[in-house]
Amino acid sequence: MAEEKTETQLLRESIMMEEKKSKKLNAEIIAEADEFCEGYKIFLDKSPVEREAVEYSLELAKSRGFVEFNPEAEYAPGDKVYYVNRGKAVALAVIGKNGVKNGARLAIAHIDSPRIDLKPNPLYESNDLALFKTHYYGGLKKYQWTAIPLTLHGRIIKLDGSAVDVIWGDEPDESCFCVTDLLPHLAQEQAAKPMAKAFTGEDLNVLVGSLPLDGADDEKELVKLNVMKILNEKYGITENDFLSAELCLVPSFKAKDIGFDRSMIGGYGHDDKVCAYPALAAALDADTPESTCITYLTDKEEIGSDGNTGMQSDFLRYFIYDLAKLDGVEGYRAVSKSTCLSADVNAAFDPTYASAFEAKNSCFINGGVVISKYTGHGGKYDTSDASAEYMGKIRSLLEKNGIVWQIGELGRVDLGGGGTIAKYVANMNVDVIDLGVPVLSMHAPFEIVSKTDVYMAYRAFYEFFMQK
Ligand code: MN
Ligand code: MN
Repeated sequence: MAEEKTETQLLRESIMMEEKKSKKLNAEIIAEADEFCEGYKIFLDKSPVEREAVEYSLELAKSRGFVEFNPEAEYAPGDKVYYVNRGKAVALAVIGKNGVKNGARLAIAHIDSPRIDLKPNPLYESNDLALFKTHYYGGLKKYQWTAIPLTLHGRIIKLDGSAVDVIWGDEPDESCFCVTDLLPHLAQEQAAKPMAKAFTGEDLNVLVGSLPLDGADDEKELVKLNVMKILNEKYGITENDFLSAELCLVPSFKAKDIGFDRSMIGGYGHDDKVCAYPALAAALDADTPESTCITYLTDKEEIGSDGNTGMQSDFLRYFIYDLAKLDGVEGYRAVSKSTCLSADVNAAFDPTYASAFEAKNSCFINGGVVISKYTGHGGKYDTSDASAEYMGKIRSLLEKNGIVWQIGELGRVDLGGGGTIAKYVANMNVDVIDLGVPVLSMHAPFEIVSKTDVYMAYRAFYEFFMQK
């Protein structure tokens, strides 16, 4: 027979916060999460850079009935449209019963990830080796990008305006590239330097060739010439064509399950494809919502959201204006009544680096989808601090639908910080809060997330879209 609870126990149960969210995970949730994440791993592998993420998202969307948006067309509830911004960002909308008269429901994630871009004049030869000069993109710990296999992705625009898409190094039998590092035997001086000085941005030179051109009748830079000849034969480009190109080096790793229990996924670019995919899947599954729901996959978040494909551009605002016009309402009214989940990752508590976190307010692997009321740095600078009212609404929504969730601050106060697109959305006069997936080793070439957290992110975006 069960012992009767004491008065203190009853009081504690009724008014104190329950601990250990992971107790809410069960075999059914874990099985659903495993299945959902098989699709995510494919998305991750197909989307190392933003252009590819847009292409694969469109492939999935078209297969589910999405058609290109036409501002002059009429739309009925349940219609599904996509609207592409310069091949690097895409909005996917499902028209709601009320259209955007009561605002739109927005889920916004970014599809760019930290990486190494080529400089406009990349190719050079030094001591009989051919190398690329690079300029890193986003926040990198540079040493992490040395001595790992790298793949080249991007687009070159030739003088005649034609485009050449480059993917080199993805297939198992293809060659790849690498940033070299100094052997430990000779690294005494390097090892004594602070980390930021031991490896600089100008040291991120990528090895791309070592053989001189066969049968040459002079000795001038024959390794470089040989590399250029290979590129000319494969892509029809000359060295000048690098001037109008966007070429990125990304890790060659494919997504892979982590742990004896296969509970986690390691891969490149979880930040922020791990939120982009659940937000995309929620839009694909949203069937005639009350209000029009929009998943927007944006670019340039890792470098401050500036530029016409970043969240500071007016692209999404103008898209909502177009939808509002169809509903006969003022665009600014539709924007102002919209609500948003800013879908981005947070730093999962890492026991190896426990002192960087404040455990009571950190998010944890398998703790569920993480809500960050604010990000920023110092005294809450450079962030949108969501209101108690909006936080309350989202909290109720998650609880009502049995979604496992947790709260998370990015590390301990004054240690550093970071931001998301939330503040740019908030500046549009929209209620917004960050909701996403906890990540270990964020911004490393191989980041880690848990499958149940990814699945809970999907459930959160879906219920947000389908709310009455
Ligand atoms: Mn991010
Ligand atoms: Mn990031």
